[in-house]
Amino acid sequence: MYVTLRFREGPGWAEELGESLREFADEHRAELEKADAEGRFPREVYQAMGDRGWVGPTTPTAAGGLGGGIAEYCFVCEEVARLGLVSPQIAIQGQQWLLAFGTAEQRARYLGGIARGRIVFSESISEPGAASSLKAIRTTARRDGTGWVLSGRKTHVNLGHQSDVTLVYAATEEGLTAFLVDTDLPGVGSVQTTPIGLRMLPTADMTFDEVRVPATAVLGGVGAGLETFLTTFNISRLGNASELIGYGRRALAEATGYARGRDVGEHKVTDFQGIQWTLADAYAELYTSSLARDHAATLADSGEDPALATSLAKMVAVHAAERATSDAFALVGSHGCYTDTDFGQLMQDVKVYRIGGGSVEVMRNYVARRILRSDSLEGLA
Ligand SMILES: Cc1cc2nc3c(=O)[nH]c(=O)nc-3n(C[C@H](O)[C@H](O)[C@H](O)COP(=O)(O)OP(=O)(O)OC[C@H]3O[C@@H](n4cnc5c(N)ncnc54)[C@H](O)[C@@H]3O)c2cc1C
Repeated sequence: MYVTLRFREGPGWAEELGESLREFADEHRAELEKADAEGRFPREVYQAMGDRGWVGPTTPTAAGGLGGGIAEYCFVCEEVARLGLVSPQIAIQGQQWLLAFGTAEQRARYLGGIARGRIVFSESISEPGAASSLKAIRTTARRDGTGWVLSGRKTHVNLGHQSDVTLVYAATEEGLTAFLVDTDLPGVGSVQTTPIGLRMLPTADMTFDEVRVPATAVLGGVGAGLETFLTTFNISRLGNASELIGYGRRALAEATGYARGRDVGEHKVTDFQGIQWTLADAYAELYTSSLARDHAATLADSGEDPALATSLAKMVAVHAAERATSDAFALVGSHGCYTDTDFGQLMQDVKVYRIGGGSVEVMRNYVARRILRSDSLEGLA
């Protein structure tokens, strides 16, 4: 439900791409539903999405992407979530890291492969004792000759078990540093775990046992970990917000379709004013969170600091999506309580983004800090 997203090639671009995504989703519906139910990464569908550029909306077309900006990124993420396709979120973050900080060698090695869905990327940041706080990261990297040796444990890593390369955040003497680590290196281990949502991107616990990497594995400079992290996450919050809006839209649209046709005595469910207000309120929250997301995307595309706007956009999108997926049950009743409908799964998908990619509490902390640091509320935005 983009309201004011400004696409590089105009609004027709989104209409055309939206149609292609819809056709693709219909064509692969059975495989997507099976993979989601089984908690399995549907690699072939993902690669077919990569062939069409959809795994790399912000990567140049020469490297296999769509060559778009942040508005295009938001559109793809929202539609992918709404249509139940495989989320390219982690891969897009990987490409953004490479585009912003990668060396020519790193880009040549990974960028096109990730954009085309041929190289599976994961991000190994969170640890059993460190997730909301980067300062608590205990994974270490020590210099060894010209290279580095990494040791530590990571958790909640989407596609950790399937990935070919993972971006590991580790503590060095110079500070937090990101390393591109090929997962076939000796000492890298992974055990798959099963999240309640985003089930086509299974999570993993990762171990790094004295893993030797060359100096060229450092992404963005030794000690530059905080900068590389924030630069990417300030933008990926909009991908999260967009997927949340997509989930909320699907829940509300499916619930409305059902409720319109459902008889309760002599009435349809949608005849009741209480239901109409529920619908209006849930729609209003999705609409306003789209506006907040669109504004943040415009700021980011124009090169302005988007951190406050992207944090706000994710915050309100979490609330809107939680409301829409929860209130959908007011419209569908018992129909929503079975696994052959999407309603329960959509609530669980939303819960994952409430936490993953920066929890809503962390967003609220940031927004509050910005308010308290400023002399006037008007001077904030
Ligand atoms: C399904 C899933 C997929 C994920 N994928 C990845 C991935 O691919 N790679 C990766 O590295 N990580 C991943 N994560 C990890 C995710 O980023 C962390 O779970 C998240 O940062 C929160 O950390 P935590 O769960 O340990 O919560 P904790 O840090 O233990 O916090 C617990 C609760 O307290 C709240 N809280 C924490 N600090 C504050 C504070 N200062 N003020 C108020 N409230 C606070 C949190 O919001 C949370 O609700 C994933 C998580 C999930 C659930």
